[in-house]
Amino acid sequence: MTKSVVVTGGNRGIGRSITSCFLDAGYHVIVGARKSQNVENLNPERVTFVEMDVRNEEDHLKLAEAAIAATGALDVYVNNAGFSEWRPIEKIDNQFFDDIINTNLKGAFWGAKAAAAKMTGKGVIINISSMAAKRGSANNAMYCASKFGMNGLTQSLCKELGPKGIRVNALCPVLIKTDGLMEALEASDSPAAGNPEAFLTNFKQANSALGNLPAGEDVGEMAVFLSSDKAGAITGQCINVDCGVFPQ
Ligand code: NDP
Repeated sequence: MTKSVVVTGGNRGIGRSITSCFLDAGYHVIVGARKSQNVENLNPERVTFVEMDVRNEEDHLKLAEAAIAATGALDVYVNNAGFSEWRPIEKIDNQFFDDIINTNLKGAFWGAKAAAAKMTGKGVIINISSMAAKRGSANNAMYCASKFGMNGLTQSLCKELGPKGIRVNALCPVLIKTDGLMEALEASDSPAAGNPEAFLTNFKQANSALGNLPAGEDVGEMAVFLSSDKAGAITGQCINVDCGVFPQ
């Protein structure tokens, strides 16, 4: 029987790679985002796009219901949608605080809540967190707070939902070259000092054990593995996908 997966923000960047990996693994993928970016073209029969905003609780129920309509059950829910923006403390205002927390943290919580309500039997929730959930860095207080929060959700919900047969894990990637990351690095308060390409090259050389940085597919393949029965003993973990930047 075809399994279903919801991927928020599955239309571009890391999310689009996650969508592709689940398609390769035979899943029907429900992509939730504000614009489709023609993601249906990846596989018109097994991709359903649902226009939604992760900040709205009821929109996540629409995604879960679309999964059930497609295959009869909701098997996996990937909370991927999010954004980063470096800002020093004096530039963090109420609006920015709310934007980043509502999207990255509250959005993932609503996703997990909808998944828990709609999954029957075994299920898997995966939160796309970040290396920024493991260590702080300058001008990054709000993004780090949102992602540390995501890891907290992961650890708590694994205990709460485990008895229902739902496993909850997070993936914590380091820098992956996407439109979202490059846009954030181009801003004046980012650590890239006006040159995102040079920043990424220097970062890689200075920090990566393997001499490279991950790609979206590396996150997608881990998400597929965590969703499989082969990962049946793994829950509550926040796993780095970082080429050895931050061994733990
Ligand atoms: P992109 O900016 O390239 O993609 C972000 C995705 O999130 C888009 O699909 C966007 O779709 C969706 N999205 C954003 N806001 C909303 C919203 N309010 N409602 C619905 N969808 C939304 O980012 P990345 O691919 O780089 O990042 C994806 C995730 O991975 C994020 O959570 C990010 O924090 C995390 N991450 C990224 C890293 C990196 O280096 N790239 C490293 C570590 C973690 P649309 O705009 O159409 O709504």
